[in-house]
Amino acid sequence: MMLIDGKLISAKVKDEVKIKALNLAKQGVVPCLAVILVGEDKASQTYVASKEKACKACEIESLAYKLSSDTKEEKLLSIIDELNKDENVDGILVQLPLPKHIDTDKILEKIDPKKDVDGFHAINAGKLVSGLDGFVPCTPLGVMRLLKEYDIETSGKNAVIIGRSNIVGKPMANLLLNANATVTITHSKTKNLKEITKNADIIVAAIGKPHFLTADMVSEGAIVIDVGINRLDNGKLVGDVDFENLKDKCSYITPVPGGVGPMTIAMLLNNTIISATNRLKRQK
Ligand code: NAP
Repeated sequence: MMLIDGKLISAKVKDEVKIKALNLAKQGVVPCLAVILVGEDKASQTYVASKEKACKACEIESLAYKLSSDTKEEKLLSIIDELNKDENVDGILVQLPLPKHIDTDKILEKIDPKKDVDGFHAINAGKLVSGLDGFVPCTPLGVMRLLKEYDIETSGKNAVIIGRSNIVGKPMANLLLNANATVTITHSKTKNLKEITKNADIIVAAIGKPHFLTADMVSEGAIVIDVGINRLDNGKLVGDVDFENLKDKCSYITPVPGGVGPMTIAMLLNNTIISATNRLKRQK
């Protein structure tokens, strides 16, 4: 069994990002990411703080908008409108979830697809499905980078995704399909899940249920990618995979923490660099 080290690979990506950011700055383009947080959700505050810190470490300017939970939808739309127009802003990220009185789809569709570094806009989702260049959601993008770094072949492999969210499952499936895997997407209504996962060369678990994928669901030699982040009552952070009982059956496996998690921010920074590079090209 080989452990896939997301900490190590994310540090490598961040090093590359920093070099590219400094290079862009020399040419007059300082990469800039705007992050909007609405409300006081503790987890969201932590995520936003980590994103700001990572930007700083990688020479990316970060603009933080911290708005109260009673912020009106109109106000949020007008902030996004201003950021869309601001030539010095390369990426716009709205931290989810938003308070209930705000229409999330409406907000995400307001972001200029050219600055949609989270890859959640329907235009970017459509581009991914069509195999065209566009911004791709950071978590599945991070998974692809991990597979690449460990020389894991995807072409012709049976890949099974558990979970069909727009943030992880669906884009993950499209990325693996574009990389020539034979992809099965499973979800809560799937029958005989175990029969399907038993046939998989690669399993991506993105469910949100601790220890959901158990050893009996996996074949000898499978590659298991655990996207889940679950906090147990005792405060421990665990994934969607029963890591301890399953690890020895796998050829490769990601741990939680230290697997997919650290890749998400690294790929967000990388997407911001891509956007800043596009800005430089437009200016030339
Ligand atoms: P989500 O939107 O809640 O989606 C969960 C998916 O799991 C749904 O498609 C659901 O099916 C499916 N599911 C639930 N119970 C199932 C069952 N018994 N059998 C098969 N499928 C089942 O969650 P998400 O946003 O994709 O996130 C998934 C996990 O990844 C969470 O733990 C989240 O914290 C974590 N995550 C991590 C990162 C990172 O940076 N590493 C980023 C994003 C998310 P239905 O569609 O039928 O309901």
